[in-house]
Amino acid sequence: MIVAANFKTNKTRKETLQYLKTLDEVDFGNVKVAVFPPATALFERDYLGAQNAYPTINGAYTGEIGLEQLNEFNIKKILIGHSERRHILGESQEFIAEKFEFFKKEGFEIFYCIGEPLDVRKKGIDAVIEYLKIQFEGIDLEYEKLVLAYEPVWAIGTGVSASIEEIKETHAKIRQFTSKPILYGGSVKPENIKDIISLQNVDGVLVGSASLDVNNFINMIEIAKGIE
Ligand code: PEP
Repeated sequence: MIVAANFKTNKTRKETLQYLKTLDEVDFGNVKVAVFPPATALFERDYLGAQNAYPTINGAYTGEIGLEQLNEFNIKKILIGHSERRHILGESQEFIAEKFEFFKKEGFEIFYCIGEPLDVRKKGIDAVIEYLKIQFEGIDLEYEKLVLAYEPVWAIGTGVSASIEEIKETHAKIRQFTSKPILYGGSVKPENIKDIISLQNVDGVLVGSASLDVNNFINMIEIAKGIE
């Protein structure tokens, strides 16, 4: 079971360190934990990853960080394809696939995010899968260090998770494309995590808002420890 936290543009370096010190005291048991803080709050921890980086060792990419900056903290995990980068920052599938290839070559554990917007979901499951297939273009879905995160755009940060039925059906369909772990993301919280991670084809969760409080996050790790 994997429980991952995405801080997005939240927390300072000082706040993140305080959070990590609390987390360091927790026995993760059989749970694989990953935490993605902002780039200004990277530290050396096995469970830490980057929310984003440019596919380069270094160079002239103003405002971006590259491999050299991640290596400084021994970072070996990265989020790629998050819906906020696709829809707010305008990252194309082509560029996302380029990033994927770069960090795959560098041996990173890649948390690759996919998910459909509301207008597509309203058209039904077949339309959703067609949409997700486009997000699979150029992506090695059998990369040994791939973790897929299915995050419907309409469920991210809205407080309204996809229904158990929707998660069950969509993950079963995604399973046909990969044998790697599939996480669900979108308004996961202590109140609904157990029902979600108990589902077949759900190998963990990627949590945004509800991970910002360290006690909430620890609570979710504890719940996940009880699930095979
Ligand atoms: C996310 O952005 O990855 C996410 C799942 O956010 P939230 O939990 O806030 O919906």
